[in-house]
Amino acid sequence: MATIAFIGLGNMGGPMAANLVKAGHKVVAFDLVEASRNQAKADGAGIAESAVGAVKGADVVVTMLPAGKHVLGVWNEVIPVMIKGALIIDSSTIDVESARAAHALAARHGVLSVDAPVSGGTGGAKGATLTFMCGGEENAFAAAKPVLEKMGKKIVHCGGSGAGQAAKICNNMILGISMIAVSEAFALGEKLGLSHQALFDVASTSSGQCWSLTTYCPVPGPVPTSPANNDYKPGFASALMVKDLTLAQDAAKAAGAATPLGKHAQEIYQSFDAAGQGGVDFSGIIKHVRGLAGKA
Ligand code: NAD
Repeated sequence: MATIAFIGLGNMGGPMAANLVKAGHKVVAFDLVEASRNQAKADGAGIAESAVGAVKGADVVVTMLPAGKHVLGVWNEVIPVMIKGALIIDSSTIDVESARAAHALAARHGVLSVDAPVSGGTGGAKGATLTFMCGGEENAFAAAKPVLEKMGKKIVHCGGSGAGQAAKICNNMILGISMIAVSEAFALGEKLGLSHQALFDVASTSSGQCWSLTTYCPVPGPVPTSPANNDYKPGFASALMVKDLTLAQDAAKAAGAATPLGKHAQEIYQSFDAAGQGGVDFSGIIKHVRGLAGKA
């Protein structure tokens, strides 16, 4: 089994590293936060004193960090001490430009690299059921796949460097927009005297059908497992939706793509976040949409 260095042991990285240990890999982990290091130790990982200490002798390095600047910071530190021909995977959600710069850095040092952001949230991280969207050369992807399979159930090669991040932000832009669309439909239905169940029964089997409706329905009742049934907790925090919609807008500007609904969705989620709702599941946006009545 491979020796794997894991850097960034937060809500996602902690359980992902634990799944690599469970699969039989030797995992050497590092995080800036002591409590996260202690949890990884309890999960069976070895603990290093620094990111550089963790990667020495590793066949594979995985990073799971907040944003592009953290990833570039850590990759700049660790890549020069990695074994030539070893593999580095970044599973954070970051901007496409930083992801491409990170790949270029790895290539200059003879290290294979893959950007592999995830969907599936903390539940997917714990249950090893994440979807990985990967970008990088064919041989790097082939080396990464068996490792990613220990943490996820669907591994997709989307193309060259940065393609995983591109797929992630395009997907989440659809998600942000579609959740607002579904919320507006329920808010309008309520004003028109339509029951939630009636609208769900029709739209879920008609042309309005989408994931935001059928899996993550923003009103309690029709889909018992959706966060709406538990006061919009836990789930995918609205603050993370703002992050992803902002990454999509930055990419759209840089690439010269027109995304007017993506921009509007970003603004709506930013207002929700600014109202102190950043920790609420993103389907809670229906509360904000109802509050716009008479204003928008
Ligand atoms: P988190 O804030 O819980 O964890 C990030 C960890 O990185 C923290 O423990 C922090 O101490 C550590 N860290 C930061 N800089 C470091 C450094 N220089 N060296 C070592 N450790 C460092 O975040 P998370 O929820 O685990 O998310 C991680 C990434 O996954 C983010 O990019 C996020 O957008 C993405 N993501 C999160 C979710 C989710 O539901 N939480 C879902 C999909 C994708």
